[in-house]
Amino acid sequence: MKKYHIWTIGCQMNVADSTHVGAELEKLGYEPTNHIDDAEVVVLNTCVVRQSAENKALGKLGSLKPWRLQDPNRTLALMGCMVGVRPSPKLLSAYPWVDVFMAPSESRPLVDHIRNRMIAEELRAIAAQQLARRHQLLDEAYPLASLKHLSLSGETPVAAYVPVVYGCSHACTYCIIPFRRGVERSRPLQEIVAETRGLVAQGVREITLLGQIVDRYGYDFPDRRPNLVDLLEAVHEIDGLWRIRFLTSHPSYMTDELLEAVARLPRLMPHIEVPIQAGDDQVLARMKRGYTAEDYRRLIARIRAIIPQAAIHTDIIVGFPGETEEQFQRTYDILEELRLEKAHLARYSPRPGTVSARRMADDVPDEEKRRRHQLLEAQHERISAELNRRWLHQTVEVLVEDRHKGKWRGRTPQNRLVFFEDERNLRGQLVPVTITWTGPWSMQGVAADRLIETRDIPTGLIVH
Ligand code: SAH
Repeated sequence: MKKYHIWTIGCQMNVADSTHVGAELEKLGYEPTNHIDDAEVVVLNTCVVRQSAENKALGKLGSLKPWRLQDPNRTLALMGCMVGVRPSPKLLSAYPWVDVFMAPSESRPLVDHIRNRMIAEELRAIAAQQLARRHQLLDEAYPLASLKHLSLSGETPVAAYVPVVYGCSHACTYCIIPFRRGVERSRPLQEIVAETRGLVAQGVREITLLGQIVDRYGYDFPDRRPNLVDLLEAVHEIDGLWRIRFLTSHPSYMTDELLEAVARLPRLMPHIEVPIQAGDDQVLARMKRGYTAEDYRRLIARIRAIIPQAAIHTDIIVGFPGETEEQFQRTYDILEELRLEKAHLARYSPRPGTVSARRMADDVPDEEKRRRHQLLEAQHERISAELNRRWLHQTVEVLVEDRHKGKWRGRTPQNRLVFFEDERNLRGQLVPVTITWTGPWSMQGVAADRLIETRDIPTGLIVH
């Protein structure tokens, strides 16, 4: 409970006045205390009938200055004969840290002062509540979700991103994301569906559902439902949406149920982003990734068994603290063995606040990191070129996104880039393209006359 303290000097009338002030303060919810430091309100009821009484009051007043200035919520009231019927300008300016000046027997100014504060606090709370309510009403009237990731001006993209899990609660030792994006939290399924519908209504044909570990969608809901498969099924129902992707997956959370959904649902693209980061078990353990190279190998076999035409993308960090030549070689070897469609390569860099930055020496020299990076890049270019060659003379389905240097540019279900020339406006169309040239990073081809009307064909090659 809030407390008050009254210091009184002088005649009985002052004593009576102080009692009255005390009663008023108690009506406002205060209780008395003998300790000034416990009090929120202190009243000095003064007497000037003798110099000695005045001196005492002045001494007390001076000693209360630090008490008052320590805490802006405190109130100091000066009352009685030192104030007089009307406080003199000289008195007012001499004690600027006094909040209220009261004539003898006059408690009203203090009561008003305290009530004003209470009312101001209540008004602030009411205003905050009203503001929250108004925001809620406006959100309901104009849902953020449907427009959140598109600007209202400019051309609608053909492919758009939709976040489904914000933040990350995993603790990879090198990674700053959990510190900057907060704990993992899933968006409500209905909100995601509504947003996707909005995007499709504006012309979007492909969406990519995003999460740091997207497979953990719904883990923070009761009974972990809806999960990512439920979400994919819900989004799959949306008319006019032709392609769905999701990323990034984590090797420890990719279930067969999820892979089977990709195989079963025709609009789900055969494209899995699942980073390995390193091919050596000790490095993986120090990264706190939670799997071994053998686990990852088995996962890739599982993905390929369930989704034979899947393109698998991975992320790699070279030069993690303590990574030896031999350990790096294991990364190189497993990539050679698994022949994944894409590898996003990064040289390790210590990020502030992360476990690896705090506890592990960044001991692989920069030029060594660059060398390892270049070795993987060359390997990746060679493998990609070989893998892309398989598409030569095949007819693939391309969703056309835009024009680039006089050619149409789009992607296959496996997310391979395809360029082709055509007089028609094919933006946002599904076009069968026969591949005539392949390189490591893209392919070129010739478009068929007849476009694909809806995306109900199973993924992969087009059957004539
Ligand atoms: N949540 C996803 C993506 C994280 S950030 C995942 O865990 O896979 C994208 C990529 O950046 C990571 O996969 C990793 O390869 C790389 N990366 C993250 N932190 C890094 C660091 N400190 N130094 C170098 N590369 C890093």
